[in-house]
Amino acid sequence: MTRAGRRAPNLVVIHNSFPFFTPVCDFCSPSLVFGRAALVGDAASTPRPHMGFGVSKAGAEAQALAEALSRYDDLDRALAAYNFNSPAA
Ligand SMILES: Cc1cc2nc3c(=O)[nH]c(=O)nc-3n(C[C@H](O)[C@H](O)[C@H](O)COP(=O)(O)OP(=O)(O)OC[C@H]3O[C@@H](n4cnc5c(N)ncnc54)[C@H](O)[C@@H]3O)c2cc1C
Repeated sequence: MTRAGRRAPNLVVIHNSFPFFTPVCDFCSPSLVFGRAALVGDAASTPRPHMGFGVSKAGAEAQALAEALSRYDDLDRALAAYNFNSPAA
């Protein structure tokens, strides 16, 4: 109990029969390119939400992919360059 007579917030979790949990996990793909499929943003890797970084990372990767595609005529070479030079690599 608090001084005001209310139940402390942490005790609410203990007494709730159906507590709601949101697991937060890091994820990083072993590669950004699989055949002719390229990953950007959260599909490539997922920083924890409280880092406030995911949108910048997704934008930087999309820009890196666009630059690689514009630099090479050959798609496979472009994707290989993106995989090697990506900001997240
Ligand atoms: C709670 C929370 C808070 C966050 N706070 C921040 C923050 O403050 N700052 C920050 O920079 N980042 C934050 N992030 C992370 C940020 O939201 C992501 O990193 C970013 O949105 C990733 O962009 P994305 O384009 O890769 O994926 P998304 O934004 O998830 O876009 C993927 C899109 O694909 C669509 N889609 C999925 N499956 C299919 C399908 N089969 N067919 C067609 N479309 C499909 C989805 O509906 C979605 O619109 C936060 C994330 C969470 C969960």
